[in-house]
Amino acid sequence: MTYKILPFCLLFFVQSYTQTQPWQGKFEPIDNMIAPPNSYRTASGAPGKAYWQQRADYKIQVVLDERTNTISGNETITYYNNSPDDLSYLWIQLEQNVNGKGNDDFGQFNNGLKDGITARQMQFLTRAIDFPAGYSIKYIKDSNGQAMKSMVNNTMMKVLLDAPLKSGESLTFSIGWSYPITDRSMFLLSREGYEYFPDDDNTVYLIAHWFPRMAVYNDTEGWQNQQFQRLGEFALEFGDYEVEITVPEDHLVASTGSLLNPESVLSNTQRERLERARTSFDSPVMIVTRSEAEANEKTKSKRQKTWVFKAENVRDFAFASSRKFIWDAQAVALASNTVMAMSFYPKEGLPVWQEESTKAIKNALEVYSEATFDYPYPVCISVNTSNIGMEFPMISFNGGRPKNGKMSKNARAGMIGTIIHEVGHNWFPMIVSSDERKWMWMDEGLNTFIHQRTVAERYPDFNSTTPKSIVPFMSGDKNILRPIMTTSDSEILTQFGANFYQKPTVGLQMLRHSIIGKELFDAAFKEYANRWKYKHPNPADLFRTLEDATATDLDWFFRGWFFTTDHVDMELSHVKWFKVYEAEQNIEQKKQNIQVKAGGEGKAPASKDFSNGPEVIRMNATPDNAYGGFLSRLDEEAVRQNLSGKNLYEITIKNLGGLVMPVTVEWIYTDGTSEIDRLPAEIWRKNEYVVTRTFVKTKEVKTVNLDPNFEFADTNMENNSFPKTQKESDFEKFKREAGDSNK
Ligand SMILES: [Zn+2]
Repeated sequence: MTYKILPFCLLFFVQSYTQTQPWQGKFEPIDNMIAPPNSYRTASGAPGKAYWQQRADYKIQVVLDERTNTISGNETITYYNNSPDDLSYLWIQLEQNVNGKGNDDFGQFNNGLKDGITARQMQFLTRAIDFPAGYSIKYIKDSNGQAMKSMVNNTMMKVLLDAPLKSGESLTFSIGWSYPITDRSMFLLSREGYEYFPDDDNTVYLIAHWFPRMAVYNDTEGWQNQQFQRLGEFALEFGDYEVEITVPEDHLVASTGSLLNPESVLSNTQRERLERARTSFDSPVMIVTRSEAEANEKTKSKRQKTWVFKAENVRDFAFASSRKFIWDAQAVALASNTVMAMSFYPKEGLPVWQEESTKAIKNALEVYSEATFDYPYPVCISVNTSNIGMEFPMISFNGGRPKNGKMSKNARAGMIGTIIHEVGHNWFPMIVSSDERKWMWMDEGLNTFIHQRTVAERYPDFNSTTPKSIVPFMSGDKNILRPIMTTSDSEILTQFGANFYQKPTVGLQMLRHSIIGKELFDAAFKEYANRWKYKHPNPADLFRTLEDATATDLDWFFRGWFFTTDHVDMELSHVKWFKVYEAEQNIEQKKQNIQVKAGGEGKAPASKDFSNGPEVIRMNATPDNAYGGFLSRLDEEAVRQNLSGKNLYEITIKNLGGLVMPVTVEWIYTDGTSEIDRLPAEIWRKNEYVVTRTFVKTKEVKTVNLDPNFEFADTNMENNSFPKTQKESDFEKFKREAGDSNK
């Protein structure tokens, strides 16, 4: 190999190597920032040969007492230790304890006082005066009926074992418990509880994180027993459930799972209508109508009924119960599964809930199934609540109610978005079961990404998130901003929506639309979802899979977008215009024919627009020694003739925001046409602060714009154009407006 040609190349590019600030290694591998691969999790991002996961099956009998708003249950857990480790104790989650007076206040939500305080805020401050929130644990016993020792630390309970639970063995034990159900309105970030309707003296119960549940034990965390502090949600194991729910006789129960005893809890009419709904693919069938629900509101039965549900391979179980429910259902056909989409709502949700809820479920089921894998469960339920949305397997509680039967266009769009989002959580994290307590962004970010895609595809007239949406957040105070790779409970209440939902969404949109490309990206996203369904993925598994399945080095992207608070701000510093002529032509004559800047031939100072015309640049014959043996491959003369008279544009771009990103360059020509050139992020590999690139154009350029389609969340679009677009000063604006108003 000969290096004869090398000095020539180096000279040509050497200028762009000169950085004015220290090199930051923005394209270096992120290997030292993520967990190393091992036999459980491979370097390609897939579960490894030795991947293992615990399992917990539950049999639960539960009674809802409407008179006292309490719930009490007996549950039997069969816990399978599939880990290679012997366990001498088990950790059980007791989320209801977060509301208890004796529980640690993790100090997240109460700040100083302002001028006044509302009674509701006072309630948050005093943590429910005289309300005995939290679990009463009545017993814990093994399969022989022997009491087991336990210790409670806030929202976690440690169950001590007489003998270690050996690797590969299982253990069956039972817990008896009860707790008073909370009034949703009285607790901040309440995902469940009851809502009382004084007008008809009825209650809607939304029952979730209601039974003591096994904590996750895995290869990454050991026991995931970090306390529940409200923001960081849940980490849960998969298993099968058989749940018997006893409620007042005139209640309707909407629940995770399949109903096993419809003949003992539903009327003949209801069962006939449900049967019809199973083949109604175009519109919902009313199972319980408004007038039937209103009649039901008045019965106030004192007798009870038991609903029996069975759910397979779910990581949680939730239900709703009320005599107020209106109920509609329709079938949704997916490639490999037919699902019953069903909505339950009080009359206060009419008319929009009847119009939109089940339709939104159908839209979400179809788009998410296409983007990942088919929804695998038999039912998918949306239950109306007063506010916020919350997800559980096969069922979600979704906020959004009209006022006096009316709802603004925005509120309706918000409600539909909430339903799509919460239904979407069936994929992330209910099946692709990431650790929400640690990484809120892993389920919220990925879910919001497909949720926004569903909105964009199925409700095109609604606003949906695009890279432009994240600009206000990315331009925010760096002292407040945290990277996406921040643990759930360390984020601020006012920021988590943007940081854990929107920013990952925008990041994935950039990868899909502008960095990897739709076809490759969609296949990679699908690969991740399928690799990790019914498993516990970590951030590294996602990062690695997206590279593994696309042959795209994305370490620079993950490093910048997920691990820093840098933003995108590209400045188009200047553009130089040249016209190129063969040296053999009479270049002096050409110079006279076109307007030429002082200095000429590349030496002119940068001008602020194109009005001075081009500089002329000479195109010389390549010296023989530069080609060596390859000279015969090139027709020098043809190249020169082809390029003679063409325009050369040398553009200089500065990276002011710090994030390295691809750069889209838009050329608007003097004849009104335009063209786009796309530069990959790798242009910043050699110089992270400023790059210069030269383009050959046949037409003359009028304007050059960077990122004209807002693909990369550039926080300042005012420095993206050449010639600079003059922004009106405040004073000029004042003068003009004053002038206008005088007319
Ligand atoms: Zn969510």
